[in-house]
Amino acid sequence: MQAAVVPAVSSSWQIKDVPQPQPGPNQVLVKMHASGICYTDVHETLGHIPGQFPRILGHEPVGEIVAVASDVTTRKVGDRVGTAWIQSTCGRCEWCQRGRKMFCPYLKSTGLDVQGGHAEYMLMNADATYLIPEKVSYEQAAPIFCAGYTVYSGLRWADPKPHERVAVLGIGGLGHLAVQYAKAGGFETIAISHSPDKDKMIRDLGADEIVRDGKSLAAAGGADVILSTSNSTKSMVDSIQGLRPDGRLVTMGADAEPLSISLMDLISKRIRIIGSQQNGPEYLYEALDFVAQGRVKTIVETYPLAEAPKAYQRVVEGKARFRAVLTM
Ligand SMILES: [Zn+2]
Ligand SMILES: [Zn+2]
Repeated sequence: MQAAVVPAVSSSWQIKDVPQPQPGPNQVLVKMHASGICYTDVHETLGHIPGQFPRILGHEPVGEIVAVASDVTTRKVGDRVGTAWIQSTCGRCEWCQRGRKMFCPYLKSTGLDVQGGHAEYMLMNADATYLIPEKVSYEQAAPIFCAGYTVYSGLRWADPKPHERVAVLGIGGLGHLAVQYAKAGGFETIAISHSPDKDKMIRDLGADEIVRDGKSLAAAGGADVILSTSNSTKSMVDSIQGLRPDGRLVTMGADAEPLSISLMDLISKRIRIIGSQQNGPEYLYEALDFVAQGRVKTIVETYPLAEAPKAYQRVVEGKARFRAVLTM
């Protein structure tokens, strides 16, 4: 089968012929239809997240099941499925027993510890797959398995109340979905975007207001929740100026810089800084369902698998509007 392979750390992606995998116990073989490229793919390629090379990345994979292992009873050939970051966990540690698999020290991640979705076929553990609602196309579904899941988890984790204002920092692969989820959730939604060239698209996503930075967010009345999808720590720190008392900054993107903030701000405004990831499958279910209802739409640039190196470059340069998705 064809796959986009990263041969070594910091090398360019290459299209190669690799052996097609066969399902082992608890696995299904998925014929891939779409696979989104996340900025985490850049971190992985550059070695910011340690892992083995050569490797096939891709943790927004969706497709159709074409074979199932004999012990699999919950999935069948023909099912339309996707999988997210967690592929398997130990099932025995405290965090597995608590149902918080994301903290398992033996967690195996899609596209990191096991082959990802940038290929014609992929193995998924049956119990790590999620059914895609009938009305949602593969291209629409793929970005929900990381970008949509992550931002919707962040919104839910911040626990916004009626009448609260939600701001989204960074309008890209994650942010364009965060704006729509906040709007679909009924919140007044403000986009914090440095790029005026995106303003028209951001309005079309449903943002009530667009501001450029933390100071202008404060001038516009501030926000009770800031969903930070930015990879820039500097922008995150700047945005805190726009947080209202009892506000929450939810961080979902990262760079290598430490986050330093004024303790006086923290105490006097009683603000909270919240780390967030993919916080549990019920959020993925709801994130997909909003798409099925037509209330959230992913905006994607699609590229055939053969053009994966070009698509990756668009992501590296921050040019994708808003998610680059490979199609097979
Ligand atoms: Zn991701
Ligand atoms: Zn565990």
